[in-house]
Amino acid sequence: MSITSVCPKCGNAISGPFPQQCPYCPFNLSALAGRGTTSFQYLKWKKHSDLLQGQNIQLAKGETYNTSFNFKGYAQLDDIVRFTVTFGDRTTLPSSRGAHQNPVIISYIPEQLGAGTAIYLPGTIPCSGICLISPQSDIYAHSFPVIDDWVQATFPGETSYCRICNAPTAFGQPICAECYAERDSDWHNFV
Ligand SMILES: [Zn+2]
Ligand SMILES: [Zn+2]
Repeated sequence: MSITSVCPKCGNAISGPFPQQCPYCPFNLSALAGRGTTSFQYLKWKKHSDLLQGQNIQLAKGETYNTSFNFKGYAQLDDIVRFTVTFGDRTTLPSSRGAHQNPVIISYIPEQLGAGTAIYLPGTIPCSGICLISPQSDIYAHSFPVIDDWVQATFPGETSYCRICNAPTAFGQPICAECYAERDSDWHNFV
């Protein structure tokens, strides 16, 4: 298996899974793994860590979806982010006021990493996906877990393919079921 990853900030290709720090530019995984230092990143992390703070997942006024990492997802967040930067589907998401498109990277892993709620759902449902927003931006880079409903509503009709064998997959699924099975169904074996 030969893997090449591409830095979301400088666009340089790196042989192997993405490292903690890009060898070519200042980009690193810290902000996306919940260690961002801007006030924007702090607020976003607070919003997506309800479960870590021992709270139910909150839906703010006018909000349709919200999600939170759980402790298991949080403990592995560096690896989840590394997996997502290496393999995830890259697309764009309109900013909240629709003024511009933010780059995003989306990937599922075969493990629960958080939970989410939506205005039309009673209670919470598990999340196994993550979205990295504006990964190239020092100020706005952050991540949050995603529920399927949100991905399907936000990126309708998009599809993907297995990075190992090229089989068609659902959007955000960079490794197919057979390729996972060949590696003990453990996503850690890919990073
Ligand atoms: Zn770079
Ligand atoms: Zn495959």
